[in-house]
Amino acid sequence: MAYEARRAADRVDTGRAHSARVYDFILGGKDHYQVDIEAGAAMCAEWPALPVHMRANRAFMHRAARYLAREEGVRQFLDIGTGLPTSPNLHEIVQAERPDAGVVYVDNDPIVLAHAEALLTSAPEGRTAYADADMRDPGTIIGSPAFRDILDLGEPVGLMVIGMLHFVLPPEDHPVLRRLLAPLPPGSFLAATIGTADFAPQEVGRVAREYERRGMPMALRTRAQAAAFFDGLDLVEPGLCQVHRWRPEPGRPLDDDRDIAMYGAVARIP
Ligand code: SAH
Repeated sequence: MAYEARRAADRVDTGRAHSARVYDFILGGKDHYQVDIEAGAAMCAEWPALPVHMRANRAFMHRAARYLAREEGVRQFLDIGTGLPTSPNLHEIVQAERPDAGVVYVDNDPIVLAHAEALLTSAPEGRTAYADADMRDPGTIIGSPAFRDILDLGEPVGLMVIGMLHFVLPPEDHPVLRRLLAPLPPGSFLAATIGTADFAPQEVGRVAREYERRGMPMALRTRAQAAAFFDGLDLVEPGLCQVHRWRPEPGRPLDDDRDIAMYGAVARIP
């Protein structure tokens, strides 16, 4: 294990649940502790559809990233709130389309940093890098060696903010997103998913309270509040919708709307 990863492992708090590890547990991964299992089990008891919802969020990331690389020719990505490595990771998706694609991964959880090596398995023609930073501190992200080394701001960038904006509470949420979009050239894209209680208000409300009780306060947004993140950008078809309805894979049965508590969209910076 590299020195940085070992130091990160020392910072991991195994006494309280972390969102990255709860997500890993519910997605069927292996990088979590007993506290995360207890938290995840309590949340699934409140809302048994939670694993369906989380898988649909991850699948949106796959489709949105593939769309950007394949249809829009995007070759560089900035991924905020990466989470624990779960194959296929973003670079695997986009490098399957464009082996020379570059990805900057960002997360603020030391457990993700400790496992970051698994995110750095780039195709030889492409590049990946990791920045240990908080979305609420966009200056650190933009000033990081990973950002400066990998991203060429003369070319479009795909900014991915997937399954994490609910951890960035108002009033910080819009200003930090704008700061991250500001340096990206026209023709860049934002792909984001936004948690909502619009479709199963009681169940999702109870899950949010379980997160809060464990020190992870959460903002759920109405459709209008979710749409506001894309103000001034050009939404790609079909616009903002529940994540499972965004360009679904043909032939695959659609999840039930009540099981999906996430809006998603992809939009172009004019
Ligand atoms: N984007 C991935 C993982 C989502 S899990 C996916 O959709 O599959 C949410 C991740 O956001 C966790 O790894 C958590 O550590 C991270 N996160 C939460 N708040 C954050 C913040 N303020 N800055 C950076 N990362 C954050």
